[in-house]
Amino acid sequence: SLYNIVQDLKGNIRVYCRVRPSFNCLSNNVIEFIGEDGLLMILDPLKSKKDGRKVFRFNRVFGPAAKQDDVFKDIQPLIRSVMDGYNVCIFAYGQTGSGKTHTMNGPSGGPDKDFGINYLALNDLFKIQNIRSCTSDTGLSLPDATRHSVKSTDDVLNLMKLGELNRVVTFTAMNNRSSRSHSILTVYVHGKDNAGSTIRSCLHLVDLAGSERVDKSEVTGDRLKEAQYINKSLSCLGDVIMALAHKNSHIPYRNSKLTLLLQDSLGGHAKTIMFAHVSPEEDSFCETLSTLKFAQSVS
Ligand code: ADP
Ligand code: MG
Repeated sequence: SLYNIVQDLKGNIRVYCRVRPSFNCLSNNVIEFIGEDGLLMILDPLKSKKDGRKVFRFNRVFGPAAKQDDVFKDIQPLIRSVMDGYNVCIFAYGQTGSGKTHTMNGPSGGPDKDFGINYLALNDLFKIQNIRSCTSDTGLSLPDATRHSVKSTDDVLNLMKLGELNRVVTFTAMNNRSSRSHSILTVYVHGKDNAGSTIRSCLHLVDLAGSERVDKSEVTGDRLKEAQYINKSLSCLGDVIMALAHKNSHIPYRNSKLTLLLQDSLGGHAKTIMFAHVSPEEDSFCETLSTLKFAQSVS
């Protein structure tokens, strides 16, 4: 497929950017231009048009008007390749409020329409093949993780709602309802291909915790520890992806539980897509810039 040809040339990591619509009509929009070819231009609100322009290039940029289906159509072949034995990892990165959960799960207030990648992917895989539940062990100790049997996309949807309720959510000094946890939905595929060979593969769908730096002066105690832990796991993920992108001989999977858990679907013959999410409002500019730099560095 075209995807495979492109990937052979470029390595197995694709980086997409998604810009959500602006919710504040009084705020200037820092997004200056979005190109069909993955070009994104932003403007630093404190600088002149001439000096403040920053240009990024990704495999693709989805603008505020992009629909969930547009995003899904683009990655559908990759998701289906899990049935051919490829390990696949799709993850959403970005500051709190930038649209990570919207992309992976759907709109806030319950995904009853505008379903995100998780639902659309599961639905698609169920359509191709009857998925049966199984117990494959990750071998990692995840104290609060539970395993459930599923028979349909709706079963998965209900589990996802439960998982979303269980996510640790706290108020930070940012005045934001901040997701301080990663959410991972994994599909294990175990079967035989047409030639009778065994296929074992997995698909990780990951909604990462918010990437914003937490001001140390504003959180203390457990909250601070939590923030540092999250920042560490995100930077470890960055290190792993960067090492893979640069084809380093040593890939530092062991530095965090997150990268250990995703190890089988990052690197090797695995296919990875990172969605870098950004908010268009000017008061998010610093976080937007840091997200785009991070995403650019791994692409
Ligand atoms: P995050 O998970 O990164 O904290 P959310 O996905 O919760 O952010 O998005 C914040 C809000 O913006 C939610 O109400 C969400 O439904 C809305 N939103 C995010 N992305 C989009 C989009 N592409 N189109 C419409 N609404 C969006
Ligand atoms: Mg979220």
